[in-house]
Amino acid sequence: MRPLIVIGNWKMNGSLAKNADWIKTVCRGMEQGMPAGRQYAVCVPSPYLAQCSQLIADCSLAFLSLGAQDVSAHVSGAHTGEVAASMLKELGCKYVIVGHSERRQFHHEVDEQVAEKALQVLDSGMTPVICVGETADERNSGREEEVVRGQIAKQVAVLQDRLADCLIAYEPIWAIGTGKVASAQVAQDMHHAIRLQLAEFDVDVASHVGILYGGSVKPDNAVELFAMPDIDGGLIGGASLNPSDFLAIARA
Ligand code: PEP
Repeated sequence: MRPLIVIGNWKMNGSLAKNADWIKTVCRGMEQGMPAGRQYAVCVPSPYLAQCSQLIADCSLAFLSLGAQDVSAHVSGAHTGEVAASMLKELGCKYVIVGHSERRQFHHEVDEQVAEKALQVLDSGMTPVICVGETADERNSGREEEVVRGQIAKQVAVLQDRLADCLIAYEPIWAIGTGKVASAQVAQDMHHAIRLQLAEFDVDVASHVGILYGGSVKPDNAVELFAMPDIDGGLIGGASLNPSDFLAIARA
């Protein structure tokens, strides 16, 4: 049985004061009780990792963890501005998002690099959250499955059975930050297609990998999405900025 995992992605938002308020509010809310067997995390901007790591440690909830939004594909060295996986691990991260569509779109990241980043994350003992998803044009021309299959195939080629220790986030680009959520059935169909593709490689890997949905998840659509058999939780952008909305989605 795969656990349900809900991960917030603050993107480039936050401040020392807002972060402290968010984590304290979410901790207080979660202390009132959460559905059993679930895992939660929040991926914060790099400069706030140390602060948020301490705040999350202070609230001592075993099911609430810290995550990062990106990582270098290199171990260390002359890579000005980049952050190594070992550094994220030292700061207490459990999850690292790789290949988010905003990194692919605005920083020209390609699948091979995304897989290299995922390897760095795994080698440092953390869980990569590998993002895949199609654009509106690709879906409108009926190529959504072909596009996502291509992205997954590149991950399989590099990561092989280490994929069992990764999470995949299906994030249709047309649904990210747009308020246009994929219907639960549309999301389920793609999650199922991803699982079938993984099963072509290894049935065990396919049954272990958590596949999260991301794209305008809100408290009012989370229940239906999370009820789908191949949707193992969510990667939540905009709605994760509001602690009450994040808590509501975490309970969905
Ligand atoms: C995201 O950034 O990963 C995301 C899913 O954003 P939103 O929830 O705002 O669509």
